[in-house]
Amino acid sequence: MSDGPLLMIPGPIEISPGVRAAYQGPPPSHVSPQILEAFGSSLEQMRRVWCAPQDSQPFIVAGSGTMAMEMAVTNLVDPGQSVLVVNTGYFSDRMTMMLRARGAEVSQVRAEPGRVPTSQDVEQALALGSFAAVFATHVDTSTGVRVDPKSICLAANDHGALSVFDGVCATVGERFEMEAWGADVYLTSSQKAIGLPCGLALMVVSRQAMHARGQLKTSVPLCLDWHQWLPIMEAYQDRRPSYFSTPATNLVAALDVGLKEILGQRLGQYRAMEACFRNHERVAGAMRSAWESMGLSLFPFSESIAANTLSAVLYPEGIGPELLGRIKARGVVVAGGLYPGRKGDYFRVGHMGYATTQDDMIVRTVQAIESALVESGLPVSGLGVAACREALG
Ligand code: PMP
Repeated sequence: MSDGPLLMIPGPIEISPGVRAAYQGPPPSHVSPQILEAFGSSLEQMRRVWCAPQDSQPFIVAGSGTMAMEMAVTNLVDPGQSVLVVNTGYFSDRMTMMLRARGAEVSQVRAEPGRVPTSQDVEQALALGSFAAVFATHVDTSTGVRVDPKSICLAANDHGALSVFDGVCATVGERFEMEAWGADVYLTSSQKAIGLPCGLALMVVSRQAMHARGQLKTSVPLCLDWHQWLPIMEAYQDRRPSYFSTPATNLVAALDVGLKEILGQRLGQYRAMEACFRNHERVAGAMRSAWESMGLSLFPFSESIAANTLSAVLYPEGIGPELLGRIKARGVVVAGGLYPGRKGDYFRVGHMGYATTQDDMIVRTVQAIESALVESGLPVSGLGVAACREALG
């Protein structure tokens, strides 16, 4: 836990004591036995956490979520190729910008803010052209909506297109079954539900997507190129020293520990990823009970498309962004709105990673928000915390 206020924004997030201990201390060498083991073990664990096939290729590279997106775009798309973006907000707009900068012909299927395109919308859009790949944001952090990645994967497969998902605000916190659904790239960054500090770009790439990289006609910026990184990942998998560009060694040590913690989770009869997905669902359900009990509404149009990793909550009548300072004064930091033109309409609360295993953090967060609302004139004393506690079980 941090020494300051509880950090409940949609990333970076509170991290576990084990992960914190793992990245502290002097930087280990990238060819030390400790890092060869931590790197190799992290790559192996990523396949399990991503529910990915054995022949898929994980990549661990120093960088951000945006860099992971750029890596997917530049390794898969040649200028002039047609791609489809399932656009659900701010981060899908960013993906569209990157694809256009790469020279791709971008078609989009989009919904109003707070909604997601239906699977029929996606099917219809795919039927209108011949697309090399479909890009979607699993959870759009700006509005808190979640697409149905399974139906997008299946539709893309039917149309011979690769499927690429920005899982930055979803991976580990939302169900994603890369192998069962035939997804091609699932990318994220370390500061979200994976539960690390900022600084790692992470992705798992299917054999088909690696093949597509091999077919590319245009070069890829060297530091983003899967072909540059592949021998490095293979060396670490074999616990052999290698070098292309120095990895973030403290973070790699932490990643190994963080992934072990994720894979060691249990929830009743469920183990590992099933336990992890269900636990995020349980906590998101408790948060939603709290909001509902206090008469608050979500930005997402319906609960079925509301993310399990964050809540985007509309300010009640007469209350605005001044609420954020009142919540912070109670020891909890939450985030403001992010969707352009709607920033002042809602606030966002992250509930992913370590905090979802610590019910006291979840209750403290609801307590701070409830109390700040009371100070702002909303008579909700006791309601949110009671509802949250009851739903947590
Ligand atoms: N995609 C999504 C869905 C995100 O939430 C974010 C970060 N909030 C990004 C991409 C970009 O990640 P980063 O800030 O690490 O570049």
